[in-house]
Amino acid sequence: MTRLRSVDDASGEDCLGAVAVFHDISPLTRLERVRRDFVANVSHELRTPLTSIKGYAETLLLGMEEEGGNGQGDMPAQGGAASARKNFLEIILKHANHMTKMVNDLLHLARLESGERQFEFRMVNAAEAFSQAYKECLHLAETSGLAVRNLLPAEGVAVHADQTRLVQVFRNLLENAFKYGAPSVLDAGSPGSPGLPGKPGATGEGPRGEVCVYCQERGGDVVFSIKDQGPGIPRADRERVFERFYRVEKHRQKHKAGSSGLGLAIVRHIVEKSRGAIWVESPVEDGHGTIFSFTLPKAPPAHDE
Ligand code: ADP
Repeated sequence: MTRLRSVDDASGEDCLGAVAVFHDISPLTRLERVRRDFVANVSHELRTPLTSIKGYAETLLLGMEEEGGNGQGDMPAQGGAASARKNFLEIILKHANHMTKMVNDLLHLARLESGERQFEFRMVNAAEAFSQAYKECLHLAETSGLAVRNLLPAEGVAVHADQTRLVQVFRNLLENAFKYGAPSVLDAGSPGSPGLPGKPGATGEGPRGEVCVYCQERGGDVVFSIKDQGPGIPRADRERVFERFYRVEKHRQKHKAGSSGLGLAIVRHIVEKSRGAIWVESPVEDGHGTIFSFTLPKAPPAHDE
């Protein structure tokens, strides 16, 4: 509200009137709710047919394997057709799995945004949450060939957060580090990259690189960082990777399976809802290493905010 004052009035106490500007945001809020409900409903409805597609494809594949071991069948003349069928079924299953991940993440984000998923804030040990997240993506860690260096204090790190959501934040960031953070993922062939063919790691002699997690206190917050040694994220993409479905162009084709483009949007939502902030840095301008950092408060709010 703006108070209007008389020009001649030296004291400035005289008030001639007031202008108040009101913005009616209800249509916008309503529209946003309609959008969220629509996304949640569509995702929910898509899950049932997808489950059927996956179920039938898996059953057919299993049947083929039981009948003919590798899908070649007993009859040599039909071997080619059988292996083509098996191949097609595997493709159907792969795409059905990809779609299921997208639909589940979409539904999850819509529920988080609508407030349907409640947060249970309390003092939690972030080091424990990290270990839990690591356990949950052990398979991906092993396939990536990357080692994890955990520099979180052994005695634990107390933060005010929702334990389950914090595990999810760590898990999404770790999964990304394993997917995109291998030094050889995109720049295989560049000299000196660990993990290149012929170097230790590629032949099972040792890790191909590492993902490091550490934290430091900053004022009333703790800053957690997850650092990988991958090719990094180009400057122009760094802000946008937190947007829904935004993916760095070169990853779009290469990392289709297991990706929805929603992982970082979910992470940002959780961190901001927990009174924190998240950002990304790629220390060397033209690549090599990405650090995702986020803050969480060390204590509950002083009063209800
Ligand atoms: P998804 O991994 O399912 O595609 P995300 O929202 O988790 O979706 O990530 C968005 C995009 O950000 C990824 O597709 C990738 O291009 C980029 N990205 C995320 N983490 C990293 C990382 N550690 N290194 C390089 N690029 C990354």
